[in-house]
Amino acid sequence: MSERIPCQTSGCGANILPATALKTGGICMPCHQKKLAMEKEAYILQHRKDVDRYYGIEDPVEILKIMHAPRKYNPLERDVPYHKSEQELYHQLSEVERERIEAYAISLIDQEDFDQAETILLSLVCFTNARIERGLNALFHNEQYDPGILYKEAGPSIRDELIHLVKSESDDRNHLLLALAWIGDEEVVRLFAEWRENPPQWASRLYIPPENYAHEAGWELDQDGRKRRLFHLECYPFEVHVEGSAGAEAVAALQTDDQTCPWCQGKLTVLFDYHLQHPSVRFLKLSGERLRIAACIQCNCYGTVFTKVELDGSYSWSHFNTVPDYLPITEPHEQQTWNKLQLSERKIGTYEGAYWMLEVSTSQIGGHPAWIQDAEYPACPCCSNTMMFIGQIDMGQADNSEGIYYTFLCNDCLIAAVNYQQT
Ligand SMILES: [Zn+2]
Ligand SMILES: [Zn+2]
Ligand SMILES: [Zn+2]
Repeated sequence: MSERIPCQTSGCGANILPATALKTGGICMPCHQKKLAMEKEAYILQHRKDVDRYYGIEDPVEILKIMHAPRKYNPLERDVPYHKSEQELYHQLSEVERERIEAYAISLIDQEDFDQAETILLSLVCFTNARIERGLNALFHNEQYDPGILYKEAGPSIRDELIHLVKSESDDRNHLLLALAWIGDEEVVRLFAEWRENPPQWASRLYIPPENYAHEAGWELDQDGRKRRLFHLECYPFEVHVEGSAGAEAVAALQTDDQTCPWCQGKLTVLFDYHLQHPSVRFLKLSGERLRIAACIQCNCYGTVFTKVELDGSYSWSHFNTVPDYLPITEPHEQQTWNKLQLSERKIGTYEGAYWMLEVSTSQIGGHPAWIQDAEYPACPCCSNTMMFIGQIDMGQADNSEGIYYTFLCNDCLIAAVNYQQT
């Protein structure tokens, strides 16, 4: 057997076979690999070029096409980001430009590039509230029913075809019902009410009754079979505070409070402090001065937290709270610091954050929630009505962590609820 020799790297201490030494120039395999990786990195750093894919292009539609196009990762190229976000570009599109990008999405559907087409159509639906009848037709005839929010503005002909498909034998009933829930017009409401009264045979193969799909689109049937919306159409986003700028004083976000969580003994966090008479929050139609909605940032990840609120800003832990089935025992968490979130004075569309995979920051008051998992509107523990969504904190915006805290209110009982979801 051949004698082992020491690796030449100073401080390594490994012994290697002469054959290895011959291959690597006298160093051990791990050292050799490390050396190669460092050489590669140095090469990349030295040769990497900035690539501005938007150079000289002014047409926002062309810019969006480039943004949406899938890119192959090339370590030797560093993309210069465009100075506006996709969301901002969609906001500024004219009607003609919206039609052009919709036509582009249809051409992608024809090439069966559904992912890219869907992202474009979703952006149109969520950021501009545009009607995408032609794009929908193309999706529908390619049996693309998901995500349902695409069908939000679909007209009667697509609606009727969806209904026909749901009633006939279908493997895709789940997606079809979601699409119908998003249409949510009078006929859908009537049909959901009919199915609630007389559940169709196929309903037994679903996980939830067909009418419950409405929650995904933010509504439910009331006792009389009428549509009851579970969110507010008005929506104001939060922005990360920029030094020196003055924002609306309507709502303060994320403040540590003195009250403690009975489960973990950590301090509660006031997610939202609404100044109810400020014009931006009048849509809540609450008559008092202040509304503070608190949660335990830690325990809330494992279950819903209810608080009893008063419209003078006081609140208390609700006696309706039940310890979640799973709640890890932890030390009280340290006092946390977050980015200062500031409510914008500029209203945005109701659904801008509704599809969270569009990767926009979604801390907001009002609007449609950005569910990461299935919709989860809590029932008021006092009157059992489904609670209204009133705002959410996107932790990606608050401290670059994950997940969203969703807040709800029962106006009649003055009970607030907070839920949390993450990927
Ligand atoms: Zn070594
Ligand atoms: Zn706690
Ligand atoms: Zn209630």
